[in-house]
Amino acid sequence: MGNNSYKITKGDYYMKKPYVNHDECIGDGICAELCPEVFELRDDGLAYVINENPDESLYDKINEAIEECPALAISMEEE
Ligand code: SF4
Repeated sequence: MGNNSYKITKGDYYMKKPYVNHDECIGDGICAELCPEVFELRDDGLAYVINENPDESLYDKINEAIEECPALAISMEEE
């Protein structure tokens, strides 16, 4: 299942940046496993975005993280 509605097309990435909703994140670290270039799980048990302007080569991995996040905590936000 996953939150496919958040998944976006490549062109949208130029206008949006990855965002983790800390009210929803349960800290399982799946996003950091799938795309460590963009997501980092920290000691406080929350995932953080460490690269808000990811290279195009990472878009597929970001979309995978968005889909696999069990808490639906990751989305792409307007800058
Ligand atoms: S996959 Fe989702 S719930 Fe898990 S650490 Fe990343 S943002 Fe948090």
